[in-house]
Amino acid sequence: MTFRIDVLTIFPEYLAPLGQSLLGKAAAKGLVSVGVHDLRQWTDDVHRTVDDSPYGGGPGMVMRPEPWGRGLEAVRPPGTRLVVPTPAGRPFTQAVAAQWATEPGLVFACGRYEGIDQRVADWAAEGGPVSEVSIGDYVLAGGESAVLVMVEAVTRLLPGVVGNAESVEFDSHADGLLEGPSYTRPATWRGHEVPPVLLSGDHAAIARWRRAQSLRRTADRRPDLLTGLPDGALTAADRAA
Ligand code: SAM
Repeated sequence: MTFRIDVLTIFPEYLAPLGQSLLGKAAAKGLVSVGVHDLRQWTDDVHRTVDDSPYGGGPGMVMRPEPWGRGLEAVRPPGTRLVVPTPAGRPFTQAVAAQWATEPGLVFACGRYEGIDQRVADWAAEGGPVSEVSIGDYVLAGGESAVLVMVEAVTRLLPGVVGNAESVEFDSHADGLLEGPSYTRPATWRGHEVPPVLLSGDHAAIARWRRAQSLRRTADRRPDLLTGLPDGALTAADRAA
C-alpha cells in the first residue's frame, strides 16, 4: 500500500525537501507518494488573492476560505485526515505520528499570516477527521516547516521506510522515555572514554545500563514524561536505577 500525502500551500517550493533523503527513497520504492499543490490555483481573481482582513478587527490577515474549499475538494480523498498545523493546536507527539502512520494517507493545509478562516476546518470535518496540531510552544511564520517535521515523523514509522525497524522501536518517545547516549569507534577520543560496559560483550548488562541511562536522562531533561507514564510502565529495578 502506498501512503499518500497531499500538501496545500502558497509556497510549493518550500516543500522541495519532501523529495530528498529518507522520504525520496521511500517514494522511489513506492511506499509513499507526495503531491504538493499551489493554493493559488483555486483563487478566482486576477491577483490570486488568498487573504483578507479579520472580521472583528485586529492585526494581520486571515486566509480566506474559498480557495481552501475548492482545493480540498480537488485533492482530499473522502475520509482522509486533514491536518491543519497551528500553534493553537493539540500537541503533535510520537503517539500521534504512530496513529497517523496506520492510516491510508494525510492531507496538510499550510496556513500563513494569522492562519486559516476557522470555517475551513469546521467544514472539512464533515468529510473526515480533522486534526489541528502544534509542533511546539512557539510561533512559526507558516505551516510548511511544521508539515516537513510531521511528514518525516510519520513516514519513518511506515513499514519498510527505515531499513532497521528495531531502530524505530528503541527511539526516544517510542516507549514514553528519552533514549540514552550513543557511542561509536574509537573507544577513546580526545581523552573521553566510551562507558566500559558497552565494550564488555555482556548483553544483559548493556541492556540494564541502557535502561538506567534512559530513565536518568528522562528524569533530568523531561520529568513530565515520567509522571505521564501508564501504571506499571516502571519496574522495581527501574525505580532503583
Ligand atoms: N495567529 C496564530 C496564533 O496565534 O495562533 C499564529 C499564526 S502563525 C504566524 C502562521 C501559521 O504558521 C499558522 O497558521 C500555522 O500554519 C503555522 N504555525 C506557526 N506556529 C506553529 C506551530 N507551533 N505548530 C504548527 N504550526 C505552526
